[in-house]
Amino acid sequence: MIRDPEHEKMSRKQLEKLQLERLQARVKDVYEKVPFYRRVFKGKGVTPDDIKTMADLKKLPFTSKIDFRDNYPYGLMTVPLEKVVRIHSSSGTTGKPIIAPYTEADVDMWSEVMARTLASAGMTRHDVMQNAYGYGLFTGGLGFHYGCERLGATVIPTGGGNTKRQILLMQDLGTTVITCTPTYALILNETAKEMGVDLRETKLRLGIHGAEPWSEQMRKDIEERIGISAINVYGLTEVIGPGVSVECEHKNGMHIWEDHFLVEIINPATGEQLPYGQEGELVITTLTKEAQPVIRFRTRDITKLIPETCKCGRTMVRMARITGRSDDMLVVRGVNVFPSQIENVLLEVEGVEPHYLIVVDRHDAFSTEDLEIWVEVSEAVFSDEMQKMEKLEKKLRAEMDSVLGISARIKLVEPRTIARTEGKARRVVDRKDLKNSGLITK
Ligand code: AMP
Ligand code: ZN
Repeated sequence: MIRDPEHEKMSRKQLEKLQLERLQARVKDVYEKVPFYRRVFKGKGVTPDDIKTMADLKKLPFTSKIDFRDNYPYGLMTVPLEKVVRIHSSSGTTGKPIIAPYTEADVDMWSEVMARTLASAGMTRHDVMQNAYGYGLFTGGLGFHYGCERLGATVIPTGGGNTKRQILLMQDLGTTVITCTPTYALILNETAKEMGVDLRETKLRLGIHGAEPWSEQMRKDIEERIGISAINVYGLTEVIGPGVSVECEHKNGMHIWEDHFLVEIINPATGEQLPYGQEGELVITTLTKEAQPVIRFRTRDITKLIPETCKCGRTMVRMARITGRSDDMLVVRGVNVFPSQIENVLLEVEGVEPHYLIVVDRHDAFSTEDLEIWVEVSEAVFSDEMQKMEKLEKKLRAEMDSVLGISARIKLVEPRTIARTEGKARRVVDRKDLKNSGLITK
């Protein structure tokens, strides 16, 4: 359902006019109120008056997580603390967390874009939404919560964890929509099975999943195992939290709410803007956020923009599934490897579970000589004869070779060796940290 057709179906011309007005206002605001922005604007020899058309956007400097760290905690705000009604937070690059403050108007805007997001995913006011995203500092819990209330549907604020209770509530309260990370959706299903519950027989019909990378294969897995339609949703703390973009019923890229979030794709190495359709790093400028707007924030997320009008009638551009981050990319003997590629292979091979760990011997931030992939096998294969395990290992090795373009060692491990996380899954670990990482159970 289209909640806000006036905006969601706006003509591109009208939209660009609105974006430009809002951009000019934001740029003026940060320039006047935030010393950091004044300094970096001056560094590039640009003032708010130089932003006359959308093409001038590229004159503005980029911002990144490092700027959040350097201006921690309140250095990027355009309002006094008295106007802030809430603060969320996420982990930063090193040490200091990322702070996300919201004014009353920000919470209102966020609730509205989240209501739009939920409607686009297929929810209506008749739904009962069990919200298993983490509440607290993480933006997921409260973001979905406020959006659900704004839509007028029913929210059950379970938060993450206590999985057995989640299943009981789901059955008793007639939950129709589950919101959680894709990994947690699979955990819910495993636990349900252990309890003798088939989620396909409950009222559950829709899952809205995001906050971590996942693949098309994983979607199929979730949809088949749980018997729901699974929708991809995207967002990040620095920009607002969840609600930046979401798929519609056509599941063909996530519509970006461009009246609030202005997007560009750049070449991560050079910073040069790339045309629609080309893969690169997503850069976002917030157009309406008050407390802490961001200008040209480098998300590090790799995607491409799909400009064609969608069958649903929305004119807002779509972004493709995130294929990796320009900073979690691994370079193995000179070859770029994204964890999502490995996941795709695993999900296609019979007899393995979608739980895996990439163990590396890193010599700098992302280069490694050796790649070892720990893969959990299914209960059935594990209790079978050795020969089957060997065959499986060989098959996985061959598949990885052909997809990744490099050879990787495969280590088949017992069911439940890899620790389940309720939040975002961590897939890459240094061998020297493995023991104390909490990522394995034994
Ligand atoms: P946080 O600010 O802690 O919520 O983390 C935001 C990051 O999570 C994004 O920059 C992405 O890297 C990742 N993320 C969020 N949603 C998705 C999604 N649907 N697909 C892939 N990655 C996602
Ligand atoms: Zn659409």
